[in-house]
Amino acid sequence: MDAELFSKWLGAVRVLTRDQRRETFMMLALSEADDDPDWALSDAFAAVNDPVVAGASMAMASSPPGDAQSPSVTLARPMGTDGLADELAAAARSRVAALGCPHCDAKEVRPWGHAHGLPRYRCTDCRRTFNALSGTPLARLRHKGRWPDQAQALMTAESVSKAAARCGVAYTTAFRWRHRFLVAPALDKPTRLNGIVEADETFILESFKGRRADLPRAARTRGGKPEKTGLSAEQIPVLVARDRAGATIDAVLPKLDRASVTAVLSGVVTPANQLCCDGGKAIAAFARVGGIPYHVLPKPGGPKPEAPDWHINNVNAYHSRLKEWLRPFHGVATKNLSHYLGWRRTLEAFGHGKEPGQWLSSALGSGAYQQVTL
Ligand SMILES: [Zn+2]
Repeated sequence: MDAELFSKWLGAVRVLTRDQRRETFMMLALSEADDDPDWALSDAFAAVNDPVVAGASMAMASSPPGDAQSPSVTLARPMGTDGLADELAAAARSRVAALGCPHCDAKEVRPWGHAHGLPRYRCTDCRRTFNALSGTPLARLRHKGRWPDQAQALMTAESVSKAAARCGVAYTTAFRWRHRFLVAPALDKPTRLNGIVEADETFILESFKGRRADLPRAARTRGGKPEKTGLSAEQIPVLVARDRAGATIDAVLPKLDRASVTAVLSGVVTPANQLCCDGGKAIAAFARVGGIPYHVLPKPGGPKPEAPDWHINNVNAYHSRLKEWLRPFHGVATKNLSHYLGWRRTLEAFGHGKEPGQWLSSALGSGAYQQVTL
C-alpha cells in the first residue's frame, strides 16, 4: 500500500465502531499469522476472541448481534514460563531417537549442548546441528511450557475458546496452535492395510469458513445447510478405508472418480487384500483395474449368513462417528478438512490409552502410524 493511501487508512481507524475495530484486529492478526511464524502480536489480542470461528470475519459478520461477545481469557499458568515440560522433553527425545538427523536422515547423532531450553544435537554424518523441533510444524512456536495443555485440548476436542483459556494464550494463538499441531497427524496414515478392507465414501458439507475474499457464493450462517439436498457441488467427498484391525486411511477427494480413489489407495490396498465396498463406481473401478478381489455389499443391513465377513459396517460406523464428532465445530473450513480428518483418525488410533505425550509426539511427526516424513 502506498504511503498516502496508508495514511488515509490509518485516519479512518478513528471512526470505526467497536465491532469494526474487533473485525479489523482479527484481520490484522490473521494476515500476520500467515506470514510470521513467530507471532508475538497474538498475545495482545486476548480480548479479540469470537467463540465461533477464529478469524473468520465472514462468520462474524453472519453471526447474530451479540454472538461475538468475548469471553475473557483466564491464564492457566503465569506468562513467560517457557520451561520444557516433561512430556515435551520425552516426545522430543523419542523423535530424535526414531528419526535421527532432520537434514540428512542419518541415525547417528550426538548431544550438542542446549539452546532456548532445548537440547541440541549434532549429526555425525553431515555435522549440522539441530534440536528436536527442527523441521517440525512446531519449530519456532512460543510458550513451549503450555504445549501439553494444547495436547490435552486436542484429546478432548475442545473449542478454540476453551483451548485458549486452558493454555493461557489468545484465541488467535490457540487457533493457530490447533492447526500447527494437526499438520503432522494429517499426514500420518498407514502405508498398508491388512486382510479385509472396508472402503466407502461419505460427503461433508463444503464450507468457506474463514475465507475472506473471492467467495463463490454468499456466506451461509454458521453450521449451515446445503442449498440442494443430496449430492451436489456443495458436498465434499471423503474416502475412508479401514481394515479389521482398525488401521484407517482417509482423504478428501478432489472428485469422486477412479483416479482420485487410486491416488489415495494405490499401494495401500493391493491384490493381497479383500475389499468390501457398496458398489459405488469409483471404488469398484479402482479394485477392478488394480486386480483387487472385491465384494459389493448393500449399504444397510447385516452380512449374509453364508459370508459373515463381507460387510462395510465398520467403515460406515466410522463415518457416523466422524460426522457426530465434527458437529460441535459448526462446519469446518474445507481447506482445513484434512486436518480434522487427521485429528479424528489420530483419536481413533490412540483409543483409550491416549496421553498428552502421544499427541506431542504426533505433532512432532512420530504419529500413531509412524509414517510421517516432513
Ligand atoms: Zn545429518
